[in-house]
Amino acid sequence: MLHLPVVIIGAGVTGLAIAREVALKTNYEMVLFEKERFVGHHTSSRNSGVIHAGLYYERGGLKHKFCIEGNRLWDEFAHTLDVPLKRCGKFIIASNDEELSRIDVLFAKAQGNGARVRFANEAELRELREYAIVKRAFLSLDTAIVDTSSLLCSLADDLYKRGVPIMLSHEVHNIRQEGELFIIKAAAEEISSNILINAGGPFAVSIRKMLGLHDLESIWVKGNYLKTRTPFYRKHLIYPVPPRDDKILGVHSTFDFQGDLRFGPDAEDINLDQQSFSYEVSPATKERMWPHIAMRFPTISYEELALDYAGIRPRIGHNGSKYNDFWIKSQTVANYIELCGVESPGLTSAPAIAKHIAALVATMMEKR
Ligand SMILES: Cc1cc2nc3c(=O)[nH]c(=O)nc-3n(C[C@H](O)[C@H](O)[C@H](O)COP(=O)(O)OP(=O)(O)OC[C@H]3O[C@@H](n4cnc5c(N)ncnc54)[C@H](O)[C@@H]3O)c2cc1C
Repeated sequence: MLHLPVVIIGAGVTGLAIAREVALKTNYEMVLFEKERFVGHHTSSRNSGVIHAGLYYERGGLKHKFCIEGNRLWDEFAHTLDVPLKRCGKFIIASNDEELSRIDVLFAKAQGNGARVRFANEAELRELREYAIVKRAFLSLDTAIVDTSSLLCSLADDLYKRGVPIMLSHEVHNIRQEGELFIIKAAAEEISSNILINAGGPFAVSIRKMLGLHDLESIWVKGNYLKTRTPFYRKHLIYPVPPRDDKILGVHSTFDFQGDLRFGPDAEDINLDQQSFSYEVSPATKERMWPHIAMRFPTISYEELALDYAGIRPRIGHNGSKYNDFWIKSQTVANYIELCGVESPGLTSAPAIAKHIAALVATMMEKR
């Protein structure tokens, strides 16, 4: 049986960034197992592509910590990987009196979180109001967009050049422990490792069950997008003050490097088993999302909006209650590191999470 010091399950942005950082910081041999035929097929290629600035998250939590650290790392990360990144900034807007009462609270929270924010001036408001209903707005200066397809390709290519294999179409279906080793079965391969990293995105909870860990459950929430190429405000992204139920950031407008303008994601509760995991966007999405767009963006017409893609937020519950933070733990089982509940801002956080995990791997190997 082949033995490697480190095995990573999952070649989404998290697993790929971790592998790169481990390769940069150590000389341990490793492999990534990926069940799909392409890297990043799940959450990492189905998001808004926004590098967040940490406005929303609770201080002291992992989402806040890794989002702020990750945002700061992105210029260098994108530059070394030759990935398009644009520091376009984003406006948070209040479109009605109810939102007006909450925008100042969010502004104060963002400042407290260490994000650079300032209220819009009169000229900016005038320009924004040509496209959106805006009573008050503030700008997050450090928000950016990244080309996620190019990111995933560059990360995979970088690992290839460093000699780190990504075993595509290799679903891990069994893990057992023999003494201090993990024995991992993926497709027809069986590999032993000293350290095991679970970066399985929406399936991370199923992977940890293979190790007998049953205290987390998956709560998947689908997010659908609509797109158009209609002329629109493209200086900054436009996000609403998040809805009161705090389930999502609110239907927002983003644009990408291909020229598409996108609205979404909404929040569609799903209860799917893994066999029927589906990213299909149903026509009902447009009906459901339209009132949220029409109430804020009067220049957008219903007819111009086309169904786009969907992603599934890998949320989790812990012992029966919703768990709102990233669940990044080491040593639940000795020399096992798991990353569950890595929903937004997971893309933003990836470079920071990778540094954190690479340091853990180095410490674990030294202690052996
Ligand atoms: C609608 C939506 C919008 C979002 N917008 C943003 C945003 O704008 N900014 C931001 O920062 N974040 C955003 N996110 C969050 C971000 O996309 C995720 O946090 C990030 O992509 C998670 O990456 P990952 O590598 O952990 O998971 P994934 O990309 O899902 O990767 C996990 C990988 O593990 C593989 N795998 C699973 N089980 C096995 C197994 N048994 N064997 C082998 N391989 C396995 C899967 O096939 C998959 O490729 C958004 C998410 C959604 C859903």
